[in-house]
Amino acid sequence: MVRGHADLKRSNRLEIGVVGRFQRGERVSGIALERVFHLGSRMYEITVQTEFCAGHSLVIGGQREKLHGHNWKVKAVIAGGSLDHDGLLCDFHTCEEVLQEICEPFHNENLDDREPFVKGVNPSAEHVARYIATEMASRLDEALKPHARVQSVSVTEAPGCIATYRVEKS
Ligand SMILES: [Zn+2]
Repeated sequence: MVRGHADLKRSNRLEIGVVGRFQRGERVSGIALERVFHLGSRMYEITVQTEFCAGHSLVIGGQREKLHGHNWKVKAVIAGGSLDHDGLLCDFHTCEEVLQEICEPFHNENLDDREPFVKGVNPSAEHVARYIATEMASRLDEALKPHARVQSVSVTEAPGCIATYRVEKS
């Protein structure tokens, strides 16, 4: 029930966006095309979240900062224009499990010493988000085709400090 309600709210927001375009005086044919574009690409979104505790010491301007820890919060968004035969974009538990599998090796570790950061990639929130998003996409997108895909991953390093990586459409 909760899920259906959330979908309805998103759908309403989409409609408001279409009305807004009309008010700016675009041609009717233009509106129709825009509407098809929205419906075909991103009508539904689901979000799964997890957390892990890990340290890092970034190199900023050539200086390595002191090792310190964060409670990292990770949010992954799967989006698509239609649902599968069961009325799902993707099963929440499947998405959640994949996200947790990817983040598990980081838990209670120093990110500086973990793949892929051990190879000299600065473990910034941006790079953490990109790594998790790319891994999510490589593990899930094939199964989600053709109706959905991993759209983005946001990483909160500290309250109010959020980095997001959006996966390019392949
Ligand atoms: Zn930090």
